[in-house]
Amino acid sequence: MNIHEYQAKEILRANGIPVPPGEVATTPDEAVSIAERYGGTVVVKAQVHSGGRGKAGGVKLATTAAEVREHAEAILGMTISDLTVEKILITPAEDIETEAYVGILIDRKSQAATFMVSAEGGIDIEQVAHTDPDAIRKLTVDPRYGLMNHQAYWLANSLYDDPALVKQAAKIIRQLHAAFTSSGASMIEINPLITTTSGEVKAIDAKMTIDDSELFRHPELVEYRDLSAEPAPETKAREADLSYVKLEGNVGCCVNGAGLAMATMDLVKYYGGEPANFLDIGGSSNPEKVVTALEIITSDPNVKVILFNIFGGITRCDDVARGIVEATKRIDITPPIVIRLIGTNEKEGLDILEEAGFTAFSSMDEVVERAVQMVKTG
Ligand code: GDP
Ligand code: MN
Repeated sequence: MNIHEYQAKEILRANGIPVPPGEVATTPDEAVSIAERYGGTVVVKAQVHSGGRGKAGGVKLATTAAEVREHAEAILGMTISDLTVEKILITPAEDIETEAYVGILIDRKSQAATFMVSAEGGIDIEQVAHTDPDAIRKLTVDPRYGLMNHQAYWLANSLYDDPALVKQAAKIIRQLHAAFTSSGASMIEINPLITTTSGEVKAIDAKMTIDDSELFRHPELVEYRDLSAEPAPETKAREADLSYVKLEGNVGCCVNGAGLAMATMDLVKYYGGEPANFLDIGGSSNPEKVVTALEIITSDPNVKVILFNIFGGITRCDDVARGIVEATKRIDITPPIVIRLIGTNEKEGLDILEEAGFTAFSSMDEVVERAVQMVKTG
């Protein structure tokens, strides 16, 4: 679950990290009244789940009330990375001396929280990662011991020469690690971590992803979810208790069990195709779940063929078959459907499908090859 900058900043603040104040507005009037309360120059910032807001024109400094209004009007309703800006953050502007980057994420290779920090932060950090990877210092935190003080200093030392700044940064790095582990985050990024002209280190931007599987432990974070900012199919899948991840290919996959779903995607690739999604309909799939799964798959215009791969254990083949038949009655499904259905209540399932005019395969190999072939021959 991605959260907004203003929400991530609340979490950072709660962990003691110096973050300038800020308030959210949804109208230009509100923006002006917040700015007047702060006085002086403010920054008007688009709240969308996307980086590169500065480059897209979604971060603007404003000195007068008229400027605040002008920027608020321009930014509210703006589209950044296909997302509409519905909220803006108004925050007092800082006098920036330097911009650094501090990030922490779960690195899948080392399977542990890993810091990445760079003195060359700001809006071009992706570029730095490409052209000058040595400008980024990395540290994997051993979960047995947590982040040790000397490690925080080792990271902070790569950001600044001035010991007073290093000390502040090391503290922020420790607080960031605490924020990360205590909130079930999979990623937190402070970019930029600034030094001000008066010698203070502060976080003025924050991006954060909470691991969905951690949310049951953090019910207080669930309300941070912004449904308007996430793709509708993913919301729908979550509500129906389906695991769905959209991908770039055109073979829509509907499978029971995560392992079989992964294997199916591998086999699609093996035969030269590309999966359009990962979709696990789970163990006890009632027909209604299958209907929802098909609604989700067909909402992706890239899908050219729909591939069912069901190995019935707890999942009953007749339930899946009923779901498929029910879905074809209720929704207009253009792509052809190919089905492999074996296991519990297989005979009942195959009878239902046959009656509705489908033929099912019993081999996974055959059905996947067939699906990929259908895409290729159109
Ligand atoms: P992003 O583009 O989505 O990463 O948004 P940021 O919040 O990082 O803002 C982009 C850039 O705007 C920063 O790198 C800063 O250079 C600038 N900026 C943001 N807030 C302030 C501020 O308070 N004062 C000044 N002078 N610049 C700011
Ligand atoms: Mn930023």
